[in-house]
Amino acid sequence: MSAPYPFSAVVGLDDLRLALVINAVSPAVGGVLVRGEKGTAKSTVVRALAALLPGVPVVGGCRFSCDPAAPDPACPDATRHDGATWRPARLVELPVGATEDRLVGSLDLERALTTGVSAYEPGLLAAAHRGVLYVDEVNLLHDHLVDLLLDAAALGTSYVEREGVSVQHAARFLLVGTMNPEEGELRPQLLDRFGLTVEVAATREPTERATVVRRRLAYEADPDGFAASYADTDADLAAQIAGARQRLPQVLLGDHSLREITTLCAAFDVDGLRADLVCAKAALALAAWAGRDQVTTDDVRTAARLALPHRRRRTPFEAPGLDEQQLQDALDSVEPVPEREPEPEPPGPDGGRPEPPSDGADGASSETDQQTAADRSDSAPSPEEATQPQPVGTSSTADQDRTAPPRPGAPQAPGETFAPVALRVPGVNRRGGAAGRRSRAEGGSGRLTGARLPTGRLQSLHLSATLRAAAPHQHRRGRAGTGVVLRTTDLREAVREGREGNLVLFVVDASGSMAARQRMSAVKGAVLSLLLDAYQRRDKVALISFRRHAADLVLPPTSSVEAAAVRLTDLPTGGRTPLSAGLLRAAEVLAVEAVRDPARRALVVVVTDGRHTSGPAPKLAAAHLARSGAACVVVDCESGLVRLGLAVRLGEQLGGVALRLEELSAEALTGVVRAA
Ligand SMILES: [Zn+2]
Repeated sequence: MSAPYPFSAVVGLDDLRLALVINAVSPAVGGVLVRGEKGTAKSTVVRALAALLPGVPVVGGCRFSCDPAAPDPACPDATRHDGATWRPARLVELPVGATEDRLVGSLDLERALTTGVSAYEPGLLAAAHRGVLYVDEVNLLHDHLVDLLLDAAALGTSYVEREGVSVQHAARFLLVGTMNPEEGELRPQLLDRFGLTVEVAATREPTERATVVRRRLAYEADPDGFAASYADTDADLAAQIAGARQRLPQVLLGDHSLREITTLCAAFDVDGLRADLVCAKAALALAAWAGRDQVTTDDVRTAARLALPHRRRRTPFEAPGLDEQQLQDALDSVEPVPEREPEPEPPGPDGGRPEPPSDGADGASSETDQQTAADRSDSAPSPEEATQPQPVGTSSTADQDRTAPPRPGAPQAPGETFAPVALRVPGVNRRGGAAGRRSRAEGGSGRLTGARLPTGRLQSLHLSATLRAAAPHQHRRGRAGTGVVLRTTDLREAVREGREGNLVLFVVDASGSMAARQRMSAVKGAVLSLLLDAYQRRDKVALISFRRHAADLVLPPTSSVEAAAVRLTDLPTGGRTPLSAGLLRAAEVLAVEAVRDPARRALVVVVTDGRHTSGPAPKLAAAHLARSGAACVVVDCESGLVRLGLAVRLGEQLGGVALRLEELSAEALTGVVRAA
């Protein structure tokens, strides 16, 4: 295997490098989430971090990386503990498609049952203990793995149980994730687990781009040679990080700095106190990294910029990032604290000082002098550089539309949103489905619903069904002792059922009749509510609009609900109503998606009053769409005293249901569509 790209060869991406260094100096900061489009080398930079982390002293013979200074008495390998040794720090990668066993380790029940030996193979959580756990495309991680990860991160312990046999071991790790926000957002609980977030984008500066490309070419031509030429600078950086770790316990967080932190956190309306703590820890790490023994306002500013963006209360559609001016205003509002001797603060994780680094501080070089640490503008930008104002997307066209007086023919802004009823695809997807939270689907996770003969490699043993299958044969197999005589043919697999995400295809009537009397505003509000719901259920969404003489695929299937919201807001309205065209376009989109993403079931939401004034009557097109097998819901937008009931008939033609716009709200739940 060729050498990884060296950290010190990375050009630009200052925030990302700084965030990683902060965490290397103080693991208590709690990791980094890196957001950015493809091709920004974010994974490369994260992987390069491993070379900078101080080594870890471990107990010999222990697969769970017990600390020789405080070995875990409950360690599964406690009986094999043998002296002390030392190993390099680890950066363990959790692949998005990993099985539960791979993550938490596997209890080999087949072996346990047939030989009586308890067999536990440690998983990635054990490997990552006292190191880094890295998840590329963390937003695509299966819900079930996310839950396991959150449990382990919260407890610092991984707990595995199979049919009453249990094992537990320590699992404390730095969580680093990278993601492309266009492919979907993170669950809030997981988002909150990351200490810092960084947005990355490729530099727009030609000279810098040229350097990036030149270095990349040199690396690809000769990875080992290239890495060797940066080995010394990487080693220097590692030594500086180790030095900063040693300095960290002596760094002081003065009363004024603490006041600055709490003022900022309050100004940006963050949830709970976790943000304040992370900010304090990051500011302390920054001071240690700069070779200072006291936190400054610049440390606080930089820490806030990295620790607060993902903790602000905001809707999924608001732009991420912090407003620099608001940051400065909040800092300016802090009253100076009268000068006095800084008091030593109580130790402990909640005292505003980080826990002393538990890993590797002793193995670290102590020769690093403060000067070099403070001088590393090459690899860690100084706070001044790092806080230069950046363009922050604070105003959206949607906002402007909302405040502008309505012009004739201008798109109507969405009306109020609400919590919609849960629309589900009926039945259970036997093919596994895409991870999500909408409709029922079989899968490797979820609740146990039955047992069957294994269909492939045994994923999850159903113990009682296996024993029941073996029981009738015990006499014939010559069972003598206490153990059960098992054959491979007895094994039964657990069948589990969880939730899947769907493709929610909106087909929206944007004709003139819908645009009348601000009706479209209510319709957009309803669709936006369904989009918010789809975001939480991790669906893919797509949007077709029909008006005048044709139907438009306004938004092809995507996981970016933000994109859908923008297109919806800007949707033009007016003209005739080609309902058939809309339905046929939907059938086309479904046919393509059935090939591209076959396991994902579709839910078509037709938003219309059922009228058609252009093209043929919708009966044939509806039958055609119904044959695609997708579940259909018609949202009936007909209003007024005299109702024609056309949308209800369309619902029947589509083999689905119709519900009135007002019934979409969860409060007006009718139960009709809760077919799950
Ligand atoms: Zn151990």
